[in-house]
Amino acid sequence: MQPRKVHVNVGTIGHIDHGKTTLTAAILAVQAHKGLAEPKKYADIAKGGTRRDETKTVTIAAAHVRYETDTRTYAHTDCPGHADYVKNMITGASQMDGAVLLISAVDGPMPQTREHVLLARQVGIEHLVVFVNKVDLVSDTELLDLIELETRDLLTRYGFAGDAVPFVRGNAKGALDHPGDPAFSACITELMDALDAHVPAPVRLVDKPLLLAVEGVYSIEGLGTVVTGLIEQGKVAAGDKVELLGSGDAVETVVTGVEAFHRPLAVAEAGLNVGVRLRGVKADQVQRGHVLVAPKSIRPRARFRAEVYALRKDEGGRHTPFFSGYKPQFFLRTTDVTGVVTMPAGVEMVMPGDNARVEVNLDRPIALEAGSRFAIREGGKTVGSGVVSEVLE
Ligand code: GDP
Ligand code: MG
Repeated sequence: MQPRKVHVNVGTIGHIDHGKTTLTAAILAVQAHKGLAEPKKYADIAKGGTRRDETKTVTIAAAHVRYETDTRTYAHTDCPGHADYVKNMITGASQMDGAVLLISAVDGPMPQTREHVLLARQVGIEHLVVFVNKVDLVSDTELLDLIELETRDLLTRYGFAGDAVPFVRGNAKGALDHPGDPAFSACITELMDALDAHVPAPVRLVDKPLLLAVEGVYSIEGLGTVVTGLIEQGKVAAGDKVELLGSGDAVETVVTGVEAFHRPLAVAEAGLNVGVRLRGVKADQVQRGHVLVAPKSIRPRARFRAEVYALRKDEGGRHTPFFSGYKPQFFLRTTDVTGVVTMPAGVEMVMPGDNARVEVNLDRPIALEAGSRFAIREGGKTVGSGVVSEVLE
């Protein structure tokens, strides 16, 4: 039997008109020629589709296509506009394990190139492959070398290993128009090889440390305390040592039983809603909003840096900007905590529809880590979305 292909999520990013959608269509055309994809017209990809983020608040226009290589299946996201990229990356609506950064050989890096590279860094997209596009329009290879140098420099400045990032030069339009001609399709093949080699297979959720956000707590006569909730990552079995984390010290305990659908289970994995029986824990030691985790895998924290997106008025957001000192609620997993937002130097306010890099200081610590996503709420109404880029202290 053939081993199943590894699945990887990728997408195109880069400045408007540098060729993201053309390249997406070209990849499909070339892979379709090899029997590894269904072709799709440029216009159909450009139209995108709309989807909502996890919190069902932000609508994002995005096209999702699929293709394969010999070893992998890829799901690939292409967004029509800059604002959609910003929202997609911050809300994680289509989380990318790696991205193809488009640079037009005619223009070189542009403002949205910088913004996407920085955002990718902030939200934890660690692996990039650069496609220098439209090389058919530039006959001077020294110019291409210069653009490559400038791009590597930009990547390094924003925290990527600029010298190690693979660069592929190509003509996406040519590959799209002549997918069966190796003279045109070679750049796509080279890009596929670079993705296969450079974007590592993501760690599967079940292979990560246990994390269950507690939704309910029950005291059962003779059985002790049972917590219920969704296993977000990892797995749990009777006999496992675990920690209950709220705002204070961790409560160390041992799992004495796991059940789902009123049936005992030997082991339960990510994606399952379960009840977990805990040894020696009193019902008043745990509440909704706490997390059940693998020992020492995550800590409660109050201060962090984050990338946030403020919903527009027509997305249900605020009608007015917010300033330093803004104090909304941060909704993370199953809990709401109040926190103060501090703006970075030079940014006076964040308008509805804007994104910003901010610092947050919560009233009480909660379990979070780089990559944790949250909603920003005022009186139970979502006004923004964000992702932790760095935990402080
Ligand atoms: P996006 O905004 O990044 O998605 O850019 P598009 O894919 O829509 O491309 C913008 C324009 O550049 C379109 O008119 C494309 O036909 C053209 N284009 C894309 N790739 C190439 C290329 O490799 N060579 C040339 N000459 N034109 C290209
Ligand atoms: Mg496009």
